[in-house]
Amino acid sequence: RREKMTANLKLRHQVTKAIRDYLNQADFIDVETPYLTKSTPEGARDFLVPSRVFKNQFYALPQSPQMLKQLLMGAGLERYYQIVRCFRDEDLRGDRQPEFTQVDLEMSFVSEEDVRNLVEGMLKAVVKASKGIELTEAFPIISYAQAMRRFGSDKPDTRIGMELHDVSSVFAQSGFKLFSSAANTEGQFVKAINVKGAGTWPRSQVDKLAEVAAGFGAKGLAWVAFKEDGSVGGPITKFFSPEELETLRAEMSAEPKDLILFAVGGRLETDEILGGMRLHMARVLEVPREGHDFLWVVNFPLFHWDEETQSYASEHMPFTQPNEDQIDLLDTDPLSIGSHTYDFVMDGFEAGGGGMRIHNADLQLRILEKLGFTKERAEAQFGFLMEALTYGAPPMGGFALGLDRVCMLLAGADSIRDVMAFPKTTSGSDLMSAAPSPVTDDQLKEVSLRTL
Ligand code: ASP
Repeated sequence: RREKMTANLKLRHQVTKAIRDYLNQADFIDVETPYLTKSTPEGARDFLVPSRVFKNQFYALPQSPQMLKQLLMGAGLERYYQIVRCFRDEDLRGDRQPEFTQVDLEMSFVSEEDVRNLVEGMLKAVVKASKGIELTEAFPIISYAQAMRRFGSDKPDTRIGMELHDVSSVFAQSGFKLFSSAANTEGQFVKAINVKGAGTWPRSQVDKLAEVAAGFGAKGLAWVAFKEDGSVGGPITKFFSPEELETLRAEMSAEPKDLILFAVGGRLETDEILGGMRLHMARVLEVPREGHDFLWVVNFPLFHWDEETQSYASEHMPFTQPNEDQIDLLDTDPLSIGSHTYDFVMDGFEAGGGGMRIHNADLQLRILEKLGFTKERAEAQFGFLMEALTYGAPPMGGFALGLDRVCMLLAGADSIRDVMAFPKTTSGSDLMSAAPSPVTDDQLKEVSLRTL
């Protein structure tokens, strides 16, 4: 009965109505796809549903209709959409739900820009319908590499400043060996952020930040404070020459009362540490975040190296189209291949993502093999998709928007639970109906299962 909850559900209705109006008008066809289906490769664990008729066999609930929408393109539907429930059986870290809603769409005979432009138009219509705000500027587009380099995140909130700077060159000759040896080693960096206003913190408070940085993988946290009286504070300043400090000040546009935090190490390591510290400091200092922040992050790597499984893994998903001029690197340097991918980032959240798809069966098989699939396993899991590609599939691309997240941000809510009717707790239980719950022995017998 809380008014806020009613208002949130009404806002959600306005959002979905604006989306449907926009896509219907752009000649999209709304197609429903099955929920009882086969395991999909979005990278999470599937929810399984035992079959009564086919003993010991299971359906999987879709993590997304990805393969089905690609098949629809092959079947001649040129513009598909669906506001669809997706299911991922993950440990619910943070603000996730086991079932959530995507605005899923796919288009044939399009370029990456075509898809982004269409989605951007849709998002602007959503903001107009739900908030009355007319967004006239194009959303900025930055590459994944740039996002990591400048913000230490692939979903940056650009409202909070504090960009990462590579200051390696400042310390190339430094007496501070930790910095100078990194500055002179290939693949090692000294990077820094400027935290405005924290230069007045007492030393004990700054020192405590090392624990926070350790949570992002740092072994320690070097810092320099530019004081109000023009002096420079911090335990490592004694190693620096006045020239080094002056160049640092200029590079970081440091003013009195600014605190410079450093990270030393490899590219990813330093980006992750400072990306984490940047968000932490923005939270602690309550850096204002006015309005909404919309951004495209594009050209994600095709693969990353998965330490756990010791194999290549898709950064987005296995059907993503690699950059054509880099396909030759598949055998020599797969990690340097980029892809036709784009994430929509809103207020520092990954609110949607998509890409162009592989529409050639041979290339699709090569990618699956790189991901560690044998030909037989690839056939068993994705045979129907690859067969469809051999009949001739159009160039295609699409996108999926996290409807819950977008509604949460537009509503100014703290959790996606606040914009869902009958949400589950973070451990996935429904307190109202008490699901999940045991079933009777008869029900189990029908599906040939026994509980432990
Ligand atoms: N299926 C993808 C996902 O759920 C989105 C897409 O590429 O269309 O993340």
